[in-house]
Amino acid sequence: MQPGVNVGTEQRGLSADERRVCDEIAHAEDELVELLRALVALDTTTHAVGDPPRQEAELQEVLAERLRSRGADVRIWEPEPELVAGHPMVPDGFTFAGRPQLTARFPGSGGGRTLLLNGHIDVVSVEPLERWEHPPFAAVVADGLVHGRGACDMKGGVASMVFAAETLARLGIGLAGDLIVNTVSEEESTGAGGLVTARTLWADAAIVPEPSGLDVWVTCRGSLLPTIIVDGRAGHAGIPQRPWEQGGAVNAIEKMGLVLKAIARLREHWAGLPSHPYLSPGDCVPTMVSGGEWIVSYPASCRLDCHIEYLPEQADEHGWGSRVEREFTDWIVGKTASDPWLAAHPPRVEWLVGGVPPSEVPIDHPIVTTALGATLAVGRESTLGGLDNWHDGATLTVEAGIPAICLGPGDVRLAHTAEESVPIADLVGCAQAIAVTAMRFCA
Ligand SMILES: [Zn+2]
Repeated sequence: MQPGVNVGTEQRGLSADERRVCDEIAHAEDELVELLRALVALDTTTHAVGDPPRQEAELQEVLAERLRSRGADVRIWEPEPELVAGHPMVPDGFTFAGRPQLTARFPGSGGGRTLLLNGHIDVVSVEPLERWEHPPFAAVVADGLVHGRGACDMKGGVASMVFAAETLARLGIGLAGDLIVNTVSEEESTGAGGLVTARTLWADAAIVPEPSGLDVWVTCRGSLLPTIIVDGRAGHAGIPQRPWEQGGAVNAIEKMGLVLKAIARLREHWAGLPSHPYLSPGDCVPTMVSGGEWIVSYPASCRLDCHIEYLPEQADEHGWGSRVEREFTDWIVGKTASDPWLAAHPPRVEWLVGGVPPSEVPIDHPIVTTALGATLAVGRESTLGGLDNWHDGATLTVEAGIPAICLGPGDVRLAHTAEESVPIADLVGCAQAIAVTAMRFCA
């Protein structure tokens, strides 16, 4: 059970029932592709608070109808906003109006473990539209790929997990534990859909088929979004200034340059910490800057926004980023204090926008060993890994104690691009791997 373990392409080590399920999925490849095409064709572009819904409800109805017809107990509902209000990830005024969440439960016969399959149905904007060779909602099939927005992030994964559950039901494969299919919105915006799942469902483990290329991702980084404000002092830009101690003007933009140097040193510090086996080091990227009031005035203030990614071992005892917040603030104030103005007027660090937590599932957890073994058994190369960015599975792991891994079709480097696509072979392999994982995990 080490990274780099690979096997060839033939299926190996499958039971007769598992082989029957895999054969059925392979034979129904066209149906799986058509399911994905139907999902891509529905515009579920994510939104800012207050924007009207797109076709989220239609998409959830398509899935609800299919899963109901296969015998699942289906719940499709718009959760009350109070269920998630006040959580650090959820902005004021947020509602689920027009964006229902879906849970479809295939009850087990009893005594087995419950497995949750969770995927998000929302996608990011298709702009700039003119960059797309294939229209983003046309779901064009070419060269063994399905093209379009959401093909890999992550309607492809949703199609594969739904198809896996449907196939088990269609073939009458009995599981001892429950198998739950759960599709949510809001992953690309607030994470509120995944939070509803964490607060209303329970399972022994979860698979989130984000585009891992069929690797098993056991961990992800968390993120924080600090804003740094540096004060200067206004004055005429064309007039020589007295020293600041005597009331002279101070250039807030130039003082922010010292903050940028401190951030660069913090990035070097984090990069020098012991490395994580599956994740990049913690990082802080300055992303937006604004400052100054008039073109002929010394700027009286400057504001810098940053994006921090941090490792699971940097998290606090609750799994969140309070320690990183303190470290960041102390570092910025401390490393700029050699400047007399900044020592007297320290940069202010604000955390106005909520962050998201990192997560990590032990590599000897049964969901990890079972999923990796199942993926290898269906003849796909697979290895352990991690996602440097956050996904809903972190919410399930941290907020609900449901260990969540990623195992999904496609290449995450195509996510959010105008070249987004997913290999059909990955869709089939993912559906097979998830079905076999469910048969073994919920046995
Ligand atoms: Zn995603």
